[in-house]
Order: sequence, then structure tokens, then C-alpha cells
Amino acid sequence: MRVLITGAAGFLGSHLAERFLTEGHAVIGMDNFLTGAEDNLFPLQDDDLFHFIKQDVTKYLYLAGEVDGVLHFASPASPIDYLKLPIQTLKVGSLGTHKALGLALAKGARFMLASTSEVYGDPQVHPQPEDYRGHVNPVGPRGVYDEAKRFAEALTMAYHRCHDLDVRIARIFNTYGPRMRLDDGRVISNFLVQALQGGPLTVYGEGDQTRSFCYVDDMVEGLYRLFLSDVTEPVNLGNPAEFSINELAETVQCVVGRELEIEKQTLPTDDPQVRQPDISRARELLAWEPAVELEEGLSRSLPYFRERLQTRTGE
Ligand code: NAD
Ligand code: UDP
Repeated sequence: MRVLITGAAGFLGSHLAERFLTEGHAVIGMDNFLTGAEDNLFPLQDDDLFHFIKQDVTKYLYLAGEVDGVLHFASPASPIDYLKLPIQTLKVGSLGTHKALGLALAKGARFMLASTSEVYGDPQVHPQPEDYRGHVNPVGPRGVYDEAKRFAEALTMAYHRCHDLDVRIARIFNTYGPRMRLDDGRVISNFLVQALQGGPLTVYGEGDQTRSFCYVDDMVEGLYRLFLSDVTEPVNLGNPAEFSINELAETVQCVVGRELEIEKQTLPTDDPQVRQPDISRARELLAWEPAVELEEGLSRSLPYFRERLQTRTGE
């Protein structure tokens, strides 16, 4: 196969590209480095089957030759990124998805959308199954991301229904691991960096809000299986083990082997109170479930964060 991965210089896009290459497929990576990093491409660049194009995916996309798959992963994904880049986030979810779908249609390729648990907003159904329609504030600060992804899902299904395009929609829940940006503001990158620097850990609000954290290797396995499957309806991918942010802070301290101070900070607007995927569909249709527990995943991530921090600051 020959596939295009947009957002290939990002955290998930680079891991996914690596997986396709490992399976012997050719990968064209596309990115404009809005929130990604050139460093993430280094492990891919020596592979003759990898080709990179620096491009904004909201602009017209042209690719010569056959393409079997278009995997649309370009989008700011961390709350601090999409709050800083609201218009770019809306554009990449809408115009960028439109361009990526158009390219897939022109090439007769399978299309996969990186959607998100944020389509459920601050959920009133817990855990969240795929048929839950969500509780999103369209005009709140997070609305730029949530609504862009909801629009992207709607557009994807419209291409499926009107043009018979072969589509996959992955609703990705919080994922972590090596190659996250140290300063991307997500809770795991913040806590690991803060812990390595001796604290304090910044807990927003009372820390009783929950998330379910999936290690990147598990996520990539789920994404790869979904891409190869024949499942056109949305599929939740995430680790159903749910932790409060206070519990996460404790686990990080165990992994780092240090007791750290906790600094309480203001809870961001519209921060979801709970989040946990119902992964029955993925279990049944993809025979997939995560294997890496939180403590193990944090331990596997730590060396990357330590090395990056040393390179950045000599700490
Ligand atoms: P990331 O910020 O590390 O990667 C996104 C990449 O997209 C970056 O390299 C960025 O430069 C690129 N990009 C953004 N706008 C672009 C544009 N207009 N043209 C070209 N490239 C552009 O984020 P990530 O965590 O790797 O997320 C990847 C995808 O997965 C996103 O679509 C995100 O919404 C989705 N997702 C991620 C998570 C998670 O926990 N990591 C959860 C849910 C959904
Ligand atoms: N959070 C926190 N401290 C931080 C960063 C985030 O307590 O330093 C909280 C945040 O308020 C949210 C949760 O951790 O409740 C997960 O935040 P993240 O930015 O990782 O992603 P989200 O799931 O909100 O998209």
C-alpha cells in the first residue's frame, strides 16, 4: 500500500507512519509544523519508503501516483494549542478534512479521520459509547476543536453516503507517550516534566475530574486495525481504566520515585468532568483492547522526557 498521513510530524502521526513503514507500506507524510516537530521525522527519514511534503493541508492537495489510503491526523490536539490557534484548528478540521477527503475520492483511496473523545464534550453519559451524541458548548473556548471534529465526522459520513467513499472514524481518547511536545500543556507531559524538575505538579481545579489514558503503542495498534477493518461507523479507541487527576499525580510520583508538592490552579472553562471510553465496539469488531497499564506506560515514557529535557536545558 501507499498511504498519505497528514500531521505526520506530530505525536500520533509520526508513530502511525512508523507502524505503516514497519509493515512494509510506503508512506507520504505531510505537515506544516504548526504544532509538530521536525525531530519526530528523524526516525522515519532513513526509510526509502518514506517521503515528506511540507504543506498546509487546508490548501489544495495534489499528489502524483496511486494512493491507497489517506489518514487525516493534522490538527492541534492539546487544549493549550487549540486555544492559542482557534482559527487554524477550525480550518484544519473543516477545510483540511475537505481537501483530504477530496484527495481520497480522486485516488479511490480509503480515508481515515482522527476524531476525538471531545465530540462528546463534557459528557452526561458515562462511560461514553459511540451512539452518545455529546454535550458540547459550541461557543465556549473548547468549541473550536470539538465542533471542528464534529463537522469533520459529518463531512466524512457525507462523502461515504454521497460518493460511496470507504471511510473510518477513530474517536481517540487521551493518548500519551514518547514524542509528545514537552510544553504541549497536556496533563501527562506537564506532570512528567514537572516531576523531573522536582515539582510542583499543577493540578487544575480540585483534581477530581477524570480521564482515561492510553499508551501510544496500544493506540497505534487500534488505529492500524481499524484502518484495515471494514468498519465504517465511528469507533472509540482508548484505555478504559479511569483515573482522577489527583490519582494520576500520585502515580507519576511513584514512577519518578519522588514526593512532590501539588499546586492547585484554576480549572479551565468547559473542562470535562469525566471521560472514559466504552470500547465494546473496538473489542468486538477489531478484537482490540489496550495492554499497557498507566504505571507501565509512564515508566516507558519517562526516558524520552528525561532526554528531551536534558537536551533542552542541560538539566
Ligand atoms: P500533534 O499536535 O502532536 O500533531 C498534529 C500535527 O498536525 C502537527 O505535526 C501539526 O504541525 C500538524 N498540523 C496542524 N495543522 C496542520 C495543517 N493545517 N497542515 C498540515 N499539518 C498541520 O497532535 P497529536 O496528539 O499527534 O494528534 C494527532 C491527531 O489525533 C489530531 O487530529 C488530534 O485531534 C487527534 N487526537 C489526538 C489525541 C491525543 O490524545 N493525542 C486525542 C484525540 C484526538
Ligand atoms: N490538567 C491538570 N494539570 C495540568 C494540565 C491539565 O490538572 O498541568 C487537567 C485538565 O484540567 C484536564 C485533564 O488534566 O482536566 C486533562 O487535560 P489535558 O490537557 O491533558 O487534556 P483534555 O483531556 O482536557 O483534552
